[in-house]
Amino acid sequence: MTATATAKMSEQTASLFSNYVIPNYTRFPVAITRGEGSYVWDDQGNRYLDFFPGWGCNLLGHCPPRVVEAVQKQASELIHVPNTWHTESQGQWAKLLSEHSFGGQAFFCNSGAEANEAAIKLARLHTAPERYKILTFEGGFHGRTFGAVSATAQPKYHEGIGPMAPGFVYAPFGDLEATAAKIDDETAAILVEPIQGEGGIRLPPEGFLQGLRDLADKHGLLLMFDEVQAGCGRTGEWFAYQNFGVTPDVMTLAKSLCGGVTGGAMLTTREIAPSLRPGMHAATFGGNPLAAAAGIATLETIEQDGLLERAKALSKRFQDRLSPLVDELPHVSELRICGLMIGLELAVDATSVVQQCMDRQLLINVTQGNVVRLLPAMTLSDEQVDEGCAILADVLRAFEVN
Ligand SMILES: *Cc1c(COP(=O)(O)O)cnc(C)c1O
Repeated sequence: MTATATAKMSEQTASLFSNYVIPNYTRFPVAITRGEGSYVWDDQGNRYLDFFPGWGCNLLGHCPPRVVEAVQKQASELIHVPNTWHTESQGQWAKLLSEHSFGGQAFFCNSGAEANEAAIKLARLHTAPERYKILTFEGGFHGRTFGAVSATAQPKYHEGIGPMAPGFVYAPFGDLEATAAKIDDETAAILVEPIQGEGGIRLPPEGFLQGLRDLADKHGLLLMFDEVQAGCGRTGEWFAYQNFGVTPDVMTLAKSLCGGVTGGAMLTTREIAPSLRPGMHAATFGGNPLAAAAGIATLETIEQDGLLERAKALSKRFQDRLSPLVDELPHVSELRICGLMIGLELAVDATSVVQQCMDRQLLINVTQGNVVRLLPAMTLSDEQVDEGCAILADVLRAFEVN
């Protein structure tokens, strides 16, 4: 491969980072300056086709026009007021989310981790005082704050920062029997990603989510779906649970909720909502006017442009382009796809595929070391799908030779 680990970005940006920014991320030596649709440009003028825009946040592509316009207009009228007041837009946003999901009510915050913190508190507040345990799943990912990371059953995220918050019990994803065995009189809720994202685009086995629903009903637990990555149109349905016909009691959202603007939400039913009683939870910036304007514009764009249907058509196209690679290449073991959540599992370490695609001006992600993960925008053109998949296929073919 062409060696391009050398810095391509300006010296000035590189030195600002090395001097002043805590190096807690592994960053590529590329500085992004502009984005439009599924393209981004770096400060050297290179253009990239982005199959992982905004780490899943930019489901409408970069700078979607209606979101840009809504945010610009809102910013000139009112940027922030705290939740001691009402704003019509927060109410309208909650109404839209309710109408597109299970008809409940919303609590707004700013990120996925925060939405899950709200869900954890709600579960403990809603159930009897002795019930405090939250059941979560191996390979899951719920965020980095202490509650959320304790809920995340992946030892690599716990190393050196323990002890974890107590009360989280882990079960194997997909195994109903093992899950049932972990439930006791202290269990309050089950928290699960209906499709595991960071865990490698893992789809639930047939009947698993319904089985969790039944277990929750039988034992009086809340069934809570973390749809931070899978929700808001990503799977070709408004929410991932709608693919499986299993409705949760609580759902958490963030990532693409506001078309790339910061925002998070927890939805729950009208019956459960009052358990998050006044004084027990808050987020200063939650549901602020900018996020609300962006969130409403995002939902309207998906609806008015028929983007759920488009996501399904794009999904089919990705499937057609990528599934032959499983037969063709011995080191490509499986394609897992639901809407625009796409995972291509390799039988070998795939970390270097990211750089090799970047050298060909395609941005992708690898998770869990061996799963090529694509979370592309629902506004991609057919040609862009073909172009990007051809690059990925080339890289994977060359990979075999190495
Ligand atoms: C990204 C992610 C989170 C964490 O969201 P942040 O906004 O980074 O806090 C939680 N759950 C899932 C499923 C995610 O993909």
